[in-house]
Amino acid sequence: MSRHFLNAAQAATPDLEKEYRTEICRVGRWMYERQFVVACEGNLSVRLDPERILVTPKGACKGRLAPDDLVVIDLSGQVTRGTGRPSSEILMHLLYYRSRPDVWAVCHAHPPTATGFAAAGRALEEAVLPEVIVDLGKIPLARYGTPGTWELCVGLEPLVLNHNAILLENHGVVTCGEDLATAYQRMETVEQFSRVMCTAELLGGPHVLPRAEVQKLAAASQRHCVSCQRDRVEPPLRPESPGDEVTPARSELAPLLEETVAGDRPH
Ligand SMILES: [Zn+2]
Repeated sequence: MSRHFLNAAQAATPDLEKEYRTEICRVGRWMYERQFVVACEGNLSVRLDPERILVTPKGACKGRLAPDDLVVIDLSGQVTRGTGRPSSEILMHLLYYRSRPDVWAVCHAHPPTATGFAAAGRALEEAVLPEVIVDLGKIPLARYGTPGTWELCVGLEPLVLNHNAILLENHGVVTCGEDLATAYQRMETVEQFSRVMCTAELLGGPHVLPRAEVQKLAAASQRHCVSCQRDRVEPPLRPESPGDEVTPARSELAPLLEETVAGDRPH
């Protein structure tokens, strides 16, 4: 269930929290089965309300989680419910939640092909696949920081405001969304795009879309945005004050997409 249209002041009811616990366990199994994580790697979280986050515990295999294993923390990372400890990598989740009122779920994993790009020090910033351009724009590379420390967040901080998927140098990938399904699907998209880019490079290099084509995608994306606005029956989640408004809306995609093609190379 999407929280995108709920008011930020609304807390998750016990039933909704139960649903989120089940959903985190399900997505954890998907990540494990698709080998986006092995052993105890990766972590997932969902925002319960503006102050509380439901997260996976430290040292647990994501393929074998039970709903009661999850812990609730506040925005400083302190456990407010549950017997386990949150993953040490929860700091990057908190960075998203503190910086982006629109973010209600975060997914972190080490999918092998995307992590290969991150290990090679390569961002995924070329305009190659329309669906990736429209949903994610550039997928930047955050510079390396020791996992589980604020050092990692130093490299991430300048990127979280404008990016829903980020490669972590020599580490993995982090994605966010208005709900867990969206955050997880973005992880799948990043891994799939990485595989396509690897194959394209083996075949002589990707054919980068020209600027005019990217501009058409931006225009289509904006029309979609207008149509979505018209269909809404409840107001979308908005920041509490104009100064908090940090998330690029669809209508602001055009400049980002422009930026995506700034690195065009001849073909
Ligand atoms: Zn990690």
